[in-house]
Amino acid sequence: LLVVDDLRVSYPRPDGSLSTVVDGVSLTVRRGEVLGLVGESGSGKSQTAFSVLGLLPPEAVISAGSLTFAGEDLTGLSGKTLNDLRGAKIGYIPQEPMSNLDPSFTIGWQLVEPLRRHLGLSRAAAKEKALGLLARVGIADPARVFASYPHEVSGGMAQRVLIAGAVSCEPDLLIADEPTTALDVTVQAEVLDLIRSLQAERNMGVLLVTHNFGVVADLCDSVVVMQTGRIVEHASAVAVFADPQHEYTRMLLDSTL
Ligand code: ATP
Ligand code: MG
Repeated sequence: LLVVDDLRVSYPRPDGSLSTVVDGVSLTVRRGEVLGLVGESGSGKSQTAFSVLGLLPPEAVISAGSLTFAGEDLTGLSGKTLNDLRGAKIGYIPQEPMSNLDPSFTIGWQLVEPLRRHLGLSRAAAKEKALGLLARVGIADPARVFASYPHEVSGGMAQRVLIAGAVSCEPDLLIADEPTTALDVTVQAEVLDLIRSLQAERNMGVLLVTHNFGVVADLCDSVVVMQTGRIVEHASAVAVFADPQHEYTRMLLDSTL
């Protein structure tokens, strides 16, 4: 479903040299597979996800052997096409819920617009679908949340809204970047359960960025471990827990479990 081959992302330094933050990353996500992308802060996990999502800043220098989604070459696509793809075929749950909702529009509007644009639904049909999605992600009073502005709901609620938005157009691939780090511990487990059940229901491929091996144990089929821009280990989740091959993986496991 998603194939990333030999991805490199660099940024120009003031002296004109390049600093490489993603260095030869290759990974694949199959339909129905949950791949965990693990590593410490600054290891290049988000930069890898942003490359697929077309969210790198303009100064980034990106190169890849290939970067394909459902057989389509992502590197060749314009920003606008990528943007449409991201809305319709690739769902994205960002690290920071509040900064990814627009404060000046109601939550309902922000759910309805992509449904109209990507699925061509009428306003009424889109509203009905959005209300159903809000209920599906565990929101007790969908009509109230639909009419609310982002600042009027809690962080956990906002994250549920973003999950509803990410799966609203029935994407084949979901990219979740630390979907629970901004939430308190009790809500974290619920949100992870929700992602897992939506994944199973829809047989989506999922690229799940996390620094937490507990999350990997709960959700992931396979794991890619990144250290300073490079992949040091790529194995099934079972194998990584039973017999980690790389010193860095063992160190991460020791520090998180
Ligand atoms: P975290 O767990 O903290 O989210 P991460 O693994 O997602 O970390 P990235 O955000 O991918 O890490 O960052 C990887 C590296 O890229 C970091 O060293 C960061 O400083 C660098 N980086 C990110 N954006 C830029 C930029 N616009 N210009 C230069 N360097 C950048
Ligand atoms: Mg990150």
